[in-house]
Parts: sequence; structure tokens; C-alpha cells
Amino acid sequence: MTNRIIGQERIQSLLTSALDKHRLAHAYLFHGQPGTGKDAVALGLAMQLICKQKMPWGCRQCTTCRQILNLEHPAYQFIQPVPSQPKAMKEEKYLEILRERALERIANPYWPVDYHPELTTLPVISINQVRAIKQSVMLKLGGSAYRIFHISQIDKMTAPASNSLLKILEEPPPRTLLILTTSFPGRILATIHSRCQNLHFQGMASETLQSALEDDWKIETQHAQFLSKMAGGSLQRGLQMADKEFDTHRQTAIAFLEASFDDNYIPLLDWVDTNAINNSKADTLEMLALLQALIRDLMQIQLGFEDRVINTHTLPVLRQFMAKHNSFKADIGIAVISQAIDYIEKNAYLPMALFSLSRRLREAGK
Ligand SMILES: [Zn+2]
Repeated sequence: MTNRIIGQERIQSLLTSALDKHRLAHAYLFHGQPGTGKDAVALGLAMQLICKQKMPWGCRQCTTCRQILNLEHPAYQFIQPVPSQPKAMKEEKYLEILRERALERIANPYWPVDYHPELTTLPVISINQVRAIKQSVMLKLGGSAYRIFHISQIDKMTAPASNSLLKILEEPPPRTLLILTTSFPGRILATIHSRCQNLHFQGMASETLQSALEDDWKIETQHAQFLSKMAGGSLQRGLQMADKEFDTHRQTAIAFLEASFDDNYIPLLDWVDTNAINNSKADTLEMLALLQALIRDLMQIQLGFEDRVINTHTLPVLRQFMAKHNSFKADIGIAVISQAIDYIEKNAYLPMALFSLSRRLREAGK
């Protein structure tokens, strides 16, 4: 686990240069896919601005940095979407849960916050949270202090809250920095976009991901290498796949492929019976993404590049499949899975979508 800044050298140098030239914007909008370090950079920038040692991205040792990391510094406020307070829950308990989850997010900004089981409604950034920002903006800070508002997942802000935030962005108070982060910039008011300096966070290089998974999450080299190649530039995705469930999805994907090519119809019926009916849409999409990666590996085997196979654990199974179905057109396989993913995302009936995919995969083998 870590909250250090991983990769994002371009963003780091842009911000460092702005700081050096005293040209920091009053508001930033960090956007990019989940798990690319937007909130880690926001935290680092906040620490750097008020760190006693003036260390780049904060020294993490001085009282100021430690107060920030404990969410106890008056000049740094971290705001993230929160579920509403259940009627039966005492205010004290509710606030305690929110604080605990905020600390979790600060300790590991690469991992999404889960409010379950205590809180179950959809997390949002409400007008009350923006009102609290407005109130603290009015308070005077001593000396030449900076005040930082770090608002994570701004796309989950309600419409009234967004309008209220706009007023702050229109008349930015002096020595105040707002850092907004989002993985879905398309969901944000254009007027918010235009009042912030937008910085796009690109996906991380797989070497960067691999070393973070090894060094910070203590994942062994071979597995870290595999995860980093599958993660599509997102540390969050890499970490999600490190979960045990992942291997189950992979086994399910292989079973689907094998059943699709079986001359007997029973294995496919059995597969759909156990998987398409019981599994959620999200599980199925995850399984299909893996199936696509497996077929990409089949293509490498076909081309004679076994060293490029990502799913090295399943290499013997893949070799065996390719030996049996050597006319399989992997490129068509990848394309028909993309279409199936598309249909399922648009809420196609799962068993139907999977039966149809199975038939088209088999056709690609002829
Ligand atoms: Zn410090």
C-alpha cells in the first residue's frame, strides 16, 4: 500500500515548473482513468505547498505533513463523495465512518473507497460539503499560509453543489488552491472545466506498474509482471486483478472457450447454466475481457512468439488448444468478443449474448 506518487513524470514536472515560477493556477482539474495517481498527486501537491521542509511532494515527516496525512491540518481539506446518513444511525457514528474511509483513501489513493456494509446509499458530494468549503474559505489563515481543497471524484457532485462550487471558482479567494479530480471528465459542467487548468493523467507504463506492485504491494515478480501487462495503465485495475477472484474468472473464460469448441453441446449448456445465470453483468464483462487477453495469447502462439504470452500460467492449456484448433482465426475471435461486450454493456440478455458469442467463436475456428 502506498500514497506516494507513482510515475506521472510529465505531470510532476509541469506542476514543479509552475511552482518554481510562482505560476500555480488557482484551480486544477486532474482527469484520467482510475488508478493513474490523480489523488496521489493532489495530496503530494498539498503537502509540498505547506510542508515545513519545503520538500518536493512533502517530506512526510514534519508536523505539517503528518497532520495532512492524518487529515488534521486546518489548511488542507479532503472532500470525497459520501453516502447519506441512515436515519437509525447516530451522527457521531456516521462521522466516524466518513473519517475512517477518508483516511483509508488518503493512505491508499489508488484504491476506491467502499462504504459497505455500514452505509449503502449512492455516495455523492452534496451541497452541504460545498457549503463547508465556503465557510472555511471565509476563515482567515495565519501568515502567508496556503489553503488547499482537494475534491476527489468531482463527477459525483450533485447539480446544486456544482453550481455552488462554480461561485467559488468564479471568484477564487487569494492563496487558495482547489484541486478537483475525476475519471469521468465528460460528466462535469463545462463551466467547471473552463475555470480550472485541466491536466490529463495518462495510463502508467507497465514497467512503472510492475515495480509499484512489487515494491509497494509486495507482489512477487512474475505475477506483478503479468498484472502490469493486463492492467491497461491503471494501478487500480492491476490491484483488482491481484484479487483471488481473478483466477476464477480466468478458469471460467478457458472453460467457455473449450465448451464453445466441443462437438457436444452439453458442456456449453452446463457452462451457461452455471455462469450466465448466476453471475452478474460485471463478472461476465470481466470474464470476457480476460477471454480476449487469452485469445491475444493464442495469436502470439500461432505466430511463434510464445515469449510474448501474458497468461504464462496457462501456457500449456493454450498450446494444447492451438494444437487442436490450428485454423482458429484469433483476430476474428477478438472482434466478436468486443461486439459481445458491447451488447452486454447495453444490457443484452446474458445467456443469449453468450450463446451467440460461442457460436461465432466456433465459426472463427473453421
Ligand atoms: Zn513536510
